[in-house]
Amino acid sequence: MPTAMQQLKYPALDNYIGGEFVPSEGERLDVFSPLDGSVISTVPLSTRGDLDRAVKAAQAAFPKWSSQTVKDRVQVFFRYRRLLEEHIDELAALIQEENGKTFDEGKAEIMKAIELCEFAVSLPQLVGGEILEVSRGVECRVDRVPLGVVASICPFNFPSMVPHWTITNAIALGNTFLFKPSESVPLSAKRIAELLAEAGLPAGVFNVVHGGREIVEGICDHPDIKAVTFVGSTKVAKLVYARATSNFKRCLAMGGAKNHLMVFPDAEVEQSAINITGSSTGCAGQRCMAAATLIAVGEVDRVIERVCDVAKKTVPGQEMGAVISREAQQRIERYITEAEEAGAKVLVDGRGCVVKGKENGYYVGATVIDRVTPDMKIAREEVFGPVLAIIRASDADEALAIENASPYGNAAAVYTQDGGLAGYIAAKASAGMVGINIGVPVPREPFGFGGWNDSRFGHGDITGKSSIEFWTQSKKVTSRWNLSAYTGPIR
Ligand code: NAD
Repeated sequence: MPTAMQQLKYPALDNYIGGEFVPSEGERLDVFSPLDGSVISTVPLSTRGDLDRAVKAAQAAFPKWSSQTVKDRVQVFFRYRRLLEEHIDELAALIQEENGKTFDEGKAEIMKAIELCEFAVSLPQLVGGEILEVSRGVECRVDRVPLGVVASICPFNFPSMVPHWTITNAIALGNTFLFKPSESVPLSAKRIAELLAEAGLPAGVFNVVHGGREIVEGICDHPDIKAVTFVGSTKVAKLVYARATSNFKRCLAMGGAKNHLMVFPDAEVEQSAINITGSSTGCAGQRCMAAATLIAVGEVDRVIERVCDVAKKTVPGQEMGAVISREAQQRIERYITEAEEAGAKVLVDGRGCVVKGKENGYYVGATVIDRVTPDMKIAREEVFGPVLAIIRASDADEALAIENASPYGNAAAVYTQDGGLAGYIAAKASAGMVGINIGVPVPREPFGFGGWNDSRFGHGDITGKSSIEFWTQSKKVTSRWNLSAYTGPIR
């Protein structure tokens, strides 16, 4: 039941439509801080009527915004970038409170948002159209034209970074925008709206519609929304992709992940162990780029021992944050127990974790499980917690066969000092992003973020140069000027 009467740390949230915070017609959900389980705000479950109002506001803003030059439009993001820098501590603290991650991880989200702004302000250098004289006196030119009203549906694990994957480029390229945050982490959206307005973004260009399934389905169905991006679980990514495209929208839907890291006997022990553990425990394992499975190829026990040492020193509530909810905590613990019952050996056990002074928070300690086999549930399904499952393999091809069999394909990584072996793994891994001695191989801008297989539905990457294709359509203008035959007035 929503908390109606008690004093909330953050005022009850409203939608942001046409430059104003507008109450929703819908019911309200409590927003919990995973750090201590307290209710910190409430969020509306917006209705299709709310969505319709937001679409109308975005439609009204489109003609003026899209008719500006891209050079003019990106001026907003120069100013917005500075505001993100000025407010970085406040924004990081907000992310920490609503998501449960550490303050430094919150700060890293804003630093990435700043990098995404820097890419957006470079767009005038990248979107210059092509032009060619295609026959004597006839030239063909390609313009990139915005689509109209577009929407971005986001997950809980990055309340600010993932929304910025789409906000900056889509708006800089001339679209007007609807943002549907995760109902678990809706607070950052308010500050994004306020800071974009302070940076000078005209009313109606950026809008926020809170809610859950109902509003996502409404976005997929709405006839005046031209393109939809989704980031979240594979189950919902498939639903959104199928529904949006069946309504003839452009759609890019990023799904879940199960990332495999392969460690070889010649790997540098200390650096690899710290890197592998960081990949598994960063953001409490709630990253679509997190290490889920470590494939131990041959004799690598020295690395595994160091991974366990580092995992034991990763203290929940200090080096590691909370997971998003009590349900997530229980689900992650269930995966560990089921793996143990199936015959795996728990080397470091994060179950039953309680942080002193935050007894009601949702914590799971770093967990390392050895002797996992590919058929076990923990090896096949996305756990989305700080749990590293170790599968033993005897050579590179066996390791690759395990990695290739996963239905997902976000990231893969290899730890070795052998360049030939690293190149072989990079070429054969069935993943869109590969790390060599890097456990979270997120491509920095201008390279695009995007996985393969069940980790992505649709074409292209969600950031970087390939997002220019997604957020625009091309117009081909062919012209003939017969200058020698000009008989008009000389001006
Ligand atoms: P989720 O799929 O539960 O929710 C994502 C969004 O979909 C939210 O805004 C939510 O309100 C909405 N939603 C939830 N259920 C729905 C339904 N039945 N119908 C319509 N909409 C629905 O994902 P989450 O738990 O918020 O986020 C974690 C997941 O996101 C993980 O699987 C993670 O791997 C994935 N993720 C993927 C990437 C990527 O780039 N591939 C990036 C970040 C997170």
